[in-house]
Amino acid sequence: MSEVQTVDVAAIFGEDVFNDTVMRERLPKRIYRELHKTIDDGKELDPMVAEVVAGAMKEWAIEKGATHYTHWFQPLTGVTAEKHDAFISAPGPDGKVLAEFSGKELIKGESDASSFPSGGLRATFEARGYTAWDCTSPAFVRHDAAGATLCIPTAFCSYTGEALDKKTPLLRSMEAINTQALRLIRFFGNNTSTRVVPSAGPEQEYFLVDREKYLQRKDLIYTGRTLFGAMPPKGQELDDHYYGAIRERVGSFMREVNNELWKLGVAAKTQHNEVAPAQHEVAPIYAQVNVAVDNNQLVMEVLKKVAERQGLTCLLHEKPFAGVNGSGKHNNWSIVTDDGINLIDPGKTPHDNVQFLLVLACIIKAIDTHADLLRESAADVGNDHRLGANEAPPAIISIYLGDQLQDVMEQLISTGDATNSLQGERLETGVKTIPDFMKDVSDRNRTSPFAFTGNKFEFRMVGSSDSIASPNTVLNAIVAEAFSEACDEIEKSENHFQCVHDLIKKYLTEHQRIVFNGNGYSDEWVKEAERRGLPNISSMVDAIPALTTEKAVKLFGKFGIFTKAELESRAEIQYEAYARAINIEARTMLDIAGKTLIPSVVRYSGVLANTVNELKAAGADDSVAFQMLGEVTSLVAQAKKALDRLAEVTEAGAAMASGRDQAVYYRDVVCKAMQELRAPIDELEMKMDKEYWPMPSYGDLLFEV
Ligand code: ADP
Ligand code: MG
Repeated sequence: MSEVQTVDVAAIFGEDVFNDTVMRERLPKRIYRELHKTIDDGKELDPMVAEVVAGAMKEWAIEKGATHYTHWFQPLTGVTAEKHDAFISAPGPDGKVLAEFSGKELIKGESDASSFPSGGLRATFEARGYTAWDCTSPAFVRHDAAGATLCIPTAFCSYTGEALDKKTPLLRSMEAINTQALRLIRFFGNNTSTRVVPSAGPEQEYFLVDREKYLQRKDLIYTGRTLFGAMPPKGQELDDHYYGAIRERVGSFMREVNNELWKLGVAAKTQHNEVAPAQHEVAPIYAQVNVAVDNNQLVMEVLKKVAERQGLTCLLHEKPFAGVNGSGKHNNWSIVTDDGINLIDPGKTPHDNVQFLLVLACIIKAIDTHADLLRESAADVGNDHRLGANEAPPAIISIYLGDQLQDVMEQLISTGDATNSLQGERLETGVKTIPDFMKDVSDRNRTSPFAFTGNKFEFRMVGSSDSIASPNTVLNAIVAEAFSEACDEIEKSENHFQCVHDLIKKYLTEHQRIVFNGNGYSDEWVKEAERRGLPNISSMVDAIPALTTEKAVKLFGKFGIFTKAELESRAEIQYEAYARAINIEARTMLDIAGKTLIPSVVRYSGVLANTVNELKAAGADDSVAFQMLGEVTSLVAQAKKALDRLAEVTEAGAAMASGRDQAVYYRDVVCKAMQELRAPIDELEMKMDKEYWPMPSYGDLLFEV
């Protein structure tokens, strides 16, 4: 057993973060107050304040051993990007350098943006992009093989101000929901809250595999998922992995991950084994949404780095293994005022919590109106293997309310009034030493893509490797729009109370089709959803058009979150990203099958043929060897034919101009050809002598960590 190490969480938590405590200690009082006006109230940052903050930040970072700083940003590639600069000035006449870092360098960075996707927004002759400090997300020092680096969370824009990243629109959407939610709560007599902030708590799923075995799988190396692989004799059917005891090797991994995250100020809280063998989950305590987005990027980064250090590899792909449970990232979302009121908390008796009912009705309306956009926000190439592919969760957006709210909703729709709320019952445990406790009023529904879970909504479609920026941007924006439309109506009305009452009934009645409490994985639901007219968008390529519909342009334009040009560029980037990813997968298959698998099978066929001859010469029964030879050669012939076909269609796809047509071609033609190559090869894996199979199998990868 590995040595047991103890950690004082409270002592190490946030030790590498330039957080509020550090700022209070190190900044002059006036500067600290001024900076807080920017952080809390969105006031523009004074360059003089930035200068002082930069000085303090530099001193602090250097004490932590930092030699470099970086503007840490999130371009549209979905991962973070950084360019490191050392804290040094040009050497003086004495040949010495000074540690330098100015206010200007803190607030604004300039980088050659031409290699980041921009979807045509930035002409190549104008390659400048700017990174701007997001002072609402704290800077931190990261320690790794590169040394210690001060990381400054930033937004990334083009020279002309268009967003080139995921952060900028998210911050814009936070402004929108803040403004509209404040308008709304004022009607209910709340004059004390001054800011409303969305929060998110993402539950991150991942797989761990042995690094040595990973390195023998080019498909994992190049694409993050296996492109070949027969099912192991044992899968997840026994459900013995879920919440099972954590094995030593994994436990030691989790311990180091937690320590790293705590130092970085990420409140990693929950960890457990997930459904599939080798699959796990980590979830932090929820945070303000832009911080949660940054923290989730750190979580993914730390998972990968620590795995590597421990001889493991962390797979964040949504579907690393066909036929085995995929990985998602449940995005828990709520809206909370600066004085701690959660607008999504119904209280004990939701039927008489009118403000909550209006908020709920607005959310239901928002999700129904923009189901396509929300679906799009969770689309990435890997997630196509989960959403709508007979996997969890379904590609149809619906809302699970639970019994209590469902009942309140029905009362409101039928009579216009709700007079009571179902209450939780006592759950008798039947064991004397265990106290009875109150049951939650609603059970969990794990099949719903958008589930009410007590005081938050859980959006379950997001992919495990994806940033949570887009889903939260969309949630904030669509709910801001619904709040804003409700507020417009209420403001115009003579009797506010009556108007609120009517709006709740109206929204619930008009949008109740989106509410579904049943089994979201059933075939009946697919039919029922179709009858209700709900969109069922089963691929990323079909999700992308949601970005540029008239209603999307209107929504995002209204709040200055995206211009039409920004939306069109994002759609272009998505099509291109899709085609490129599938192209890489196809070429990886060609490489593996052409250079490794098929040659191995051919060699093995030779061995079988010799065996047949030897048996014959010895006068022994050669019928089994003969039959095996026949099966293997016929399958390898089929594989070779499929390989040639895949080569042909991939070449044709790569020659197409990028855009929707190319993406559709990759999905319909290339993906199909990939499947046709995979089928005979997976069958061969089951028929071949394991010694002749040149890659670790699913069983080796999934059960040997
Ligand atoms: P589950 O039982 O679905 O795993 P948890 O209670 O473990 O749910 O919470 C999952 C995530 O939801 C955690 O990151 C948690 O911090 C977050 N969460 C809890 N309350 C809220 C809230 N009000 N707003 C946003 N996220 C929340
Ligand atoms: Mg959960």
